[in-house]
Amino acid sequence: MKDYGLGIWGNENFIIKEGEVCINRGSKPSLMEITQDIRNSGLRGPIILRFPHLIGKQIESLYANFERVIEENNYTGSFNAVFPLKVNQYPQAVKSIIKYGASYNYGLEAGSKAELVLAIAHTPIGSPITVNGFKDTEMTTLCFMAAQMGHNITITIEGLGELESIIEVANTSNLKAPNIGIRVRLHSSGSGSWAKSGGMDAKFGLTATELLEAITMLQEQQLIDHFTMIHFHIGSQMEDIAPLKKALREAGNIYAELKRMGSDALNSINIGGGLAVEYSQHEQHRLRNYSLKEFANDVVYVLREIMNAKGVEHPNIYTESGRFIIASHAILITPVLELFSQDYQEKSLKFSDTNAPLIEELRELNNLLKQENCIEYIHDALDHLESLFTLFDLGYITLQDRSNAEILVHQIIKKSLRMMKGSRTAELNRLQERLQERYLINSSIFQSMPDYWGLRQQFPVMPLNKLDEPAIRAASLWDITCDSDGEILFNPNAPLYLHDVDLDEEEYFLAFFNIGAYQETLGMSHNLFTHPSECSIEITEEGYELHDIEESDNILDILDDIGYDKSQILIQLKNNLANSPFTTEEEKSDTLQQLELYLYQNGYLRTTN
Ligand SMILES: *Cc1c(COP(=O)(O)O)cnc(C)c1O
Repeated sequence: MKDYGLGIWGNENFIIKEGEVCINRGSKPSLMEITQDIRNSGLRGPIILRFPHLIGKQIESLYANFERVIEENNYTGSFNAVFPLKVNQYPQAVKSIIKYGASYNYGLEAGSKAELVLAIAHTPIGSPITVNGFKDTEMTTLCFMAAQMGHNITITIEGLGELESIIEVANTSNLKAPNIGIRVRLHSSGSGSWAKSGGMDAKFGLTATELLEAITMLQEQQLIDHFTMIHFHIGSQMEDIAPLKKALREAGNIYAELKRMGSDALNSINIGGGLAVEYSQHEQHRLRNYSLKEFANDVVYVLREIMNAKGVEHPNIYTESGRFIIASHAILITPVLELFSQDYQEKSLKFSDTNAPLIEELRELNNLLKQENCIEYIHDALDHLESLFTLFDLGYITLQDRSNAEILVHQIIKKSLRMMKGSRTAELNRLQERLQERYLINSSIFQSMPDYWGLRQQFPVMPLNKLDEPAIRAASLWDITCDSDGEILFNPNAPLYLHDVDLDEEEYFLAFFNIGAYQETLGMSHNLFTHPSECSIEITEEGYELHDIEESDNILDILDDIGYDKSQILIQLKNNLANSPFTTEEEKSDTLQQLELYLYQNGYLRTTN
């Protein structure tokens, strides 16, 4: 796996050049070069690199695919899209969404009051805003205010209670009413870990009966002219296309029925999000079974067939895909701080003139190891190791003997794994898993990859350099939280191989890809590791430009954020130190200065790397 599956998940965004992973654009800079450049300013710890052009690329391909399919099928409705803010609300990400979306009339979707305010402030007038999720009267009023400002805003009702609050605001204020959408509860359900968004027991949407009731209410209140959209969302990371087709047929027929019943203003179907991202690094574990082209084809084709059969005009299509648009733009760079198996290196062996007989036997097994005998020798070695542990517990061998035994057994297993590459037994695979070398990364999985912690969602990962050298160590990754869950393990049938590096001699960085969707705001500050430093990189023909470098919060601010008074803490620590005995005043002032420096650094580790 020399390219770490780049051809599977990389979408031609990256290339490998002279052993380094590079951005496949303009001057094709390497991630290593960019990382070093940022670190040259003194910044340490994990860094999120953002590549706005990758957001542009996804937006463009979404519109291009749909527009082509619409033309090919003589579909008469238009294609429209909004970005769901819950997927990434960070300013640098949203800025790029707005910039690249402007020429397409790309809008924003909001699911809470704070997101709504963001959407109203950032969406260009005329581009669509959709509003989903549970709402109170205040949130509904905000939608009316947005309509009053001239925004093209559609408020989606998730239940009849929300319709009542819309009616109330419409009757009591002089504000312009927004467009109204209704989320329909489909009996066909979604797929994947997030399937709860669809189906009869779904958290959201109106049943057929409620839908009819809503229409009656809208007619009675003279709001039916504002009812323009029906909406569904069958769940995120939809890996199989089949449930979407079912949902489209159901929603399409609901749309056609509502049109025939006299909902004249109704002109749009919003198919929600769910377009999946490929996270797998292994061909045999691919997650997604369709392309964007197939997705667009299915949407347009199914809707056209239903409308043609029922003699209804083709609806405008809205999508709210977020993951697909934003996942690829962000890469998490983590320095490797330590390799935990370095203790097991052959160079640490120290024999005496006479060694315990079992140790001598292990040495011999190690020397005579061949492909033909390695399974047998592994069994012997493990057996000897057990006996040697017992001897140690009983006080018969020294700590040095024990260390030699552990190293020798590791060597034997490791060599065997290498010899048996390609013909591994289940037993060897298990050994391999146990023997994964632990790479300590300067990062928090809870903060930066919460979906790994919560859902075992893997993210593509690879080193930034040495890609022209063999990576021989099967790895697992430890983060720096004090939590045994802070570890990323790899299946023996989908292992991660990393390089044998001497971190005293060189730096080694790992990059996690496709982390731009959901991870940043879902991230938890476990152990008070906060959002990493970040930077946006614009690639030009000649080189690249770093924009908006933002360092992760400093230690005092982290404490201040959860309610401590940072100036109090600073004073307290300074007083304690000032009142302790120092030999000279100069020493004291140096130490105080050093303390202050530490407190204004970010909360990640900075020694070695
Ligand atoms: C979460 C959500 C989306 C975005 O889903 P993705 O899988 O990120 O495309 C779209 N619409 C609604 C209503 C959502 O709740």
